[in-house]
Amino acid sequence: MPSPARVRADACPGVFATHDAVDGPLARVRLPGGVVPADRLRVLASCAEDLGDGDVHLTSRGNVQLRGVTRPGLAARLTEAGLLPSPTHERVRNVLASPLSGVRGGIADVRGLAGELDPALCAEPALADLPGRFLFAFDDGRGDVAGEGADVCWRAVTPSLGTVLLAGADTGWSVSRDAAVAALLDVAAAFGRQRGSAWRIAELSDPLALLPVALRTTPVRRPVRVDPTVGRLGERGVGVAPRFGQLSAVQLRVLADLASYAVVTPWRSIVVPDAGPDAVPRLHDAGLSTDPAALEITACIGRPGCAKSLADVRADAAAVAPGGVRAHVAGCARRCGRPAGDHLDVVAEDGGYRVGGRLVPASRLAESLVRKENP
Ligand code: SF4
Repeated sequence: MPSPARVRADACPGVFATHDAVDGPLARVRLPGGVVPADRLRVLASCAEDLGDGDVHLTSRGNVQLRGVTRPGLAARLTEAGLLPSPTHERVRNVLASPLSGVRGGIADVRGLAGELDPALCAEPALADLPGRFLFAFDDGRGDVAGEGADVCWRAVTPSLGTVLLAGADTGWSVSRDAAVAALLDVAAAFGRQRGSAWRIAELSDPLALLPVALRTTPVRRPVRVDPTVGRLGERGVGVAPRFGQLSAVQLRVLADLASYAVVTPWRSIVVPDAGPDAVPRLHDAGLSTDPAALEITACIGRPGCAKSLADVRADAAAVAPGGVRAHVAGCARRCGRPAGDHLDVVAEDGGYRVGGRLVPASRLAESLVRKENP
């Protein structure tokens, strides 16, 4: 099966193979389904404090990163806490699940499916060779994580039945909820055998060849949507939007004190499904926003953490007041962390930021975005 030739290796970072950033080694910790029990939130907090830059950074796949990990011992501490169950498979444990499932909305309850897939994935030696970019997803039918570009996704149609999506397109292959984990793993195994040098299913010329059934229908794109994951959610749930997806160790411990577990979303927010009634003031006291507008402006790490950056994008983006404009601010054309869906594209260049077709000085970036100058 043809696939593009690769001239460089898959360099997705993990805990054992960190990325060498300007501010020190960057370690990515996978959290299948985004689910983190309170005790593991505390472990991440102490690891960030003791070994890294003191903060935990959320990623667009519902994982977390520690930056500036210049002191040894991270792998041992994460392993002891159960956050690193398989050294061989750590980089392929990329699994999304609708974060509001069981909290509010959705057709099926997909809680538990990511936790079911994870050990089965780690138990299959051949799947350790999947590219670190490969992404699994379980969508509870609302169409949220189905829009996040997963290689293979089970999307609920009824509480007990769903269909399988490949590279975002619904193949029409009908699979029960009980068989969803096995179906996704079968597709991943087939991709491993057939991929050649491809990193993603979207790169294959015939993705349907990965399915164990012959289909008569043509895959279709279905509507996707992202329900608010910030603010009050259902009877007991609450979602927070850490600024640029960055939390201090202290803030993580506040979350751990509020509930038995939290769910990291792919939109750089955190859902606390069973927070108590006094949660919101405590979150605000800790500097954690529960305003959905806080997610409007996203930004890559920029300077000083990234050598490629032409600007301190987070300092510049922090000056932008929430005002109904969804924008991603990046320090270079790679646009790391760019969200899915419509947003203004803001990229640093010499002399300022390219906002639409115009070069805007950094000092006028906030004003430019509020005025919605980009069509
Ligand atoms: S978009 Fe560019 S500047 Fe920003 S983190 Fe990625 S590589 Fe660095």
